[in-house]
Amino acid sequence: MLRLPSFTYRQPRTLAEALAMKADAGPEATYVAGGTDLYPNMKRRQQEPRTVISLMGVPELRRTGGGERGAVPLGSCLTLTEIEASPYVRERYPVVATAAALVSTPLLRNMGTLGGNLCLDTRCNYYDQTYEWRKAIDFCMKKDGHICWVAPSSPRCWAVTSSDLAPVMVALGADYLLAGPAGERVVPATRFYNNDGINYLTKQPDEVLAEVRLPPPGDWDAVYLKLRRRGSFDFPVLGVAAWVRWEGTRAADARIVLGGVASHPQEMPEAAGALRGKALSAEVIAAAAEAAYRPAKPMDNTDFDLSWRKQMTRVYVTRALAELARRRSTTT
Ligand SMILES: Cc1cc2nc3c(=O)[nH]c(=O)nc-3n(C[C@H](O)[C@H](O)[C@H](O)COP(=O)(O)OP(=O)(O)OC[C@H]3O[C@@H](n4cnc5c(N)ncnc54)[C@H](O)[C@@H]3O)c2cc1C
Ligand code: SF4
Repeated sequence: MLRLPSFTYRQPRTLAEALAMKADAGPEATYVAGGTDLYPNMKRRQQEPRTVISLMGVPELRRTGGGERGAVPLGSCLTLTEIEASPYVRERYPVVATAAALVSTPLLRNMGTLGGNLCLDTRCNYYDQTYEWRKAIDFCMKKDGHICWVAPSSPRCWAVTSSDLAPVMVALGADYLLAGPAGERVVPATRFYNNDGINYLTKQPDEVLAEVRLPPPGDWDAVYLKLRRRGSFDFPVLGVAAWVRWEGTRAADARIVLGGVASHPQEMPEAAGALRGKALSAEVIAAAAEAAYRPAKPMDNTDFDLSWRKQMTRVYVTRALAELARRRSTTT
């Protein structure tokens, strides 16, 4: 049985208190929300904080609805079950409810939060292993070692983003509200992620992701599809989030974002460009799917054969766009 190391556990009651506790404890402290990612990582000694600051007792992080200039906030400590079950989210942002419902199992969704999902550690077959397993291969550069076993001559880590909600937030054009010792700042979701398996977030370690601001509902629609081995359980090895702003039956604007193929949610601008100004005919969808397939470069560090995963990019982008076109045709 894997055991947690000993650590100090702190329970702030306000956001200001959480930030002060982090400042007191320094770089050896980290935040936790549901703990469904952090605690297994601590058991495997992938993360070794001496102090863990729980955000779950902070009411400011659990707000839903309302918001400035039409943006709709979702508090970062809402659980995935709460998001999936919220009539407000289901009605206005069904793609968010769908992506939340696709994360792992009901037990994990009861504990796991929106913020934890959006800050999820990157994953790799050589990293998501016990300490002894990793030690047997002399570790790797993401933790305790020097080499990348996936690309041994590479100076960087290629661990993959495996969050179901992150590609959706990038596709929707959501903003994130970050709270830190210097105050608050808002960053677009796309700028929150780095294409680097180690430094995969641009936020500072002492900043809390306080809320996600969704764009107001309008003449847009979005779909999220997920590829994984076991439909009831597994992390995505490919996630496709497709967003379209409609003008009549034409796509005035579009975004296609892939999860599970890079260290960050990867935008596919050429694929989106192939849709702009056009009705989503079978030919247009095929051209966009091809444009998403070409630059997708999954690495050999997660489940399934990588060439098959690359081919599935074309299939899943086609399916996502066909679903958007089908829905539009039934509402116009
Ligand atoms: C068996 C298993 C299957 C899983 N399957 C999936 C899956 O299919 N899809 C998927 O997306 N995820 C999956 N997960 C990962 C995880 O359960 C979810 O992503 C969950 O939403 C993480 O949320 P949490 O609140 O538990 O995160 P935590 O473990 O609490 O935190 C995760 C990270 O985010 C940081 N953090 C958390 N909240 C904040 C905040 N508000 N501000 C700043 N930093 C913060 C923590 O410091 C930590 O580094 C799986 C996990 C397991 C164990
Ligand atoms: S991609 Fe390389 S450095 Fe990163 S976790 Fe995997 S083996 Fe380690």
